Amino acid sequence: MKISIIGGGIAGCSTAYYLTKDGHDVTLFERDSLASHASGFAQGGIKPVIRGTREIEYQNLSDYSIGLHRDLAKQLTGDGLNGKYTNFRLKPSVMLVKEESEAAEMIRVYESYGGDTEFDVRWLDCGELSHIDARISNDVIGGLYFGTSYEVDPYKLTLSLWQAAEENGAKMVNRGVTEITVSGGRVTGVVTDDGLTEADVVVSAAGPWSAEILAGVGIEIPVYPLKGQILRLDAPGPPMKMSLWWDTDYATTKDDGLMWVGTTEEETHFDDRTNDEARDLIIGSAVAMLPYLVDAELVQQTACLRPMTPDKMPIIDAEAGPEGLVISTGGGRQGIALGPGMGIATAALVTGAESPVDVSGFTLGRFA
Ligand SMILES: Cc1cc2nc3c(=O)[nH]c(=O)nc-3n(C[C@H](O)[C@H](O)[C@H](O)COP(=O)(O)OP(=O)(O)OC[C@H]3O[C@@H](n4cnc5c(N)ncnc54)[C@H](O)[C@@H]3O)c2cc1C
Repeated sequence: MKISIIGGGIAGCSTAYYLTKDGHDVTLFERDSLASHASGFAQGGIKPVIRGTREIEYQNLSDYSIGLHRDLAKQLTGDGLNGKYTNFRLKPSVMLVKEESEAAEMIRVYESYGGDTEFDVRWLDCGELSHIDARISNDVIGGLYFGTSYEVDPYKLTLSLWQAAEENGAKMVNRGVTEITVSGGRVTGVVTDDGLTEADVVVSAAGPWSAEILAGVGIEIPVYPLKGQILRLDAPGPPMKMSLWWDTDYATTKDDGLMWVGTTEEETHFDDRTNDEARDLIIGSAVAMLPYLVDAELVQQTACLRPMTPDKMPIIDAEAGPEGLVISTGGGRQGIALGPGMGIATAALVTGAESPVDVSGFTLGRFA
């Protein structure tokens, strides 16, 4: 069976990884370069879903995927010469709160874990927080601590998944797919500037550009680009030992030694340029939580596009169009965390095997 994958982000590369691990014939098409969009520029935080805040199928996919991240950290870690390091590591996270009402909600969440040690969840009052890092603003009244959060370099992870797939025989074609061809109700291949490449199965993992390529086979998919910007700061003092989150924002010291702070949620169609307005918003939000960052120096500002769906859940579906077409997209703000889970489930849909994680809730049909 010949399998063509459209898109070299984490959705496409993790699918390629799991398919080639089982010996399948995979060709991946990427029109720019691997991990050159959101999968290469995300923050790389891998936090468990806070229980009760999301749909159960989403929470199950997330928990399963985090388990796969732990496995991948062992499977993809080479000897340092083959570029397979992914910088995956345990990095506890704390959700900071400033309002009493938010604190009451977080304490309720904490109590709902009922001492379940698997997730190592704790409520920290402001005194305990100041022991974690005395640089957190005095306006912060507490935080929900997650001991089982992780961090990864999403660029290295995506490339490592691809390198492992390539070692298992996958081929990369550095071309944009302009059309998915169909005959007699089933896919027959993909077209690029070089012509037709025949395929028995086509996986559309084109991130926020999924609607563009799927429109050609008559599929309307409600995936849209949601821009996010991140600042990389040279911050004074020692690195932050935990990643800090508040509202829709965050701050964490990454392995490059820089403090990464973010982010924005901007509906700007496919405009993925950085701008000063976002810079000022992100800095303002970060300084309110970590006043010492007022002395930080901006080293780099990045922007990229998340593939979002209206219900913020992915689309993983083999029934939405012609036979042989599999859709895998919509990781949204958690696409790195969900990436391995989406990849293994997509691979199962391709081969007809039973998915190790239930993805029946992620069909395109739910939006009908
Ligand atoms: C600022 C920011 C921070 C983030 N932080 C986190 C985080 O901390 N944790 C987390 O879990 N997630 C995070 N995310 C989300 C995550 O980055 C995305 O959900 C994920 O990377 C999406 O992966 P993807 O493979 O679906 O899409 P992409 O990475 O966009 O990959 C799609 C690829 O398809 C290619 N393509 C499109 N059309 C075609 C075509 N016709 N032919 C060939 N190739 C094509 C594109 O060039 C692209 O390379 C963040 C995102 C942003 C923007």
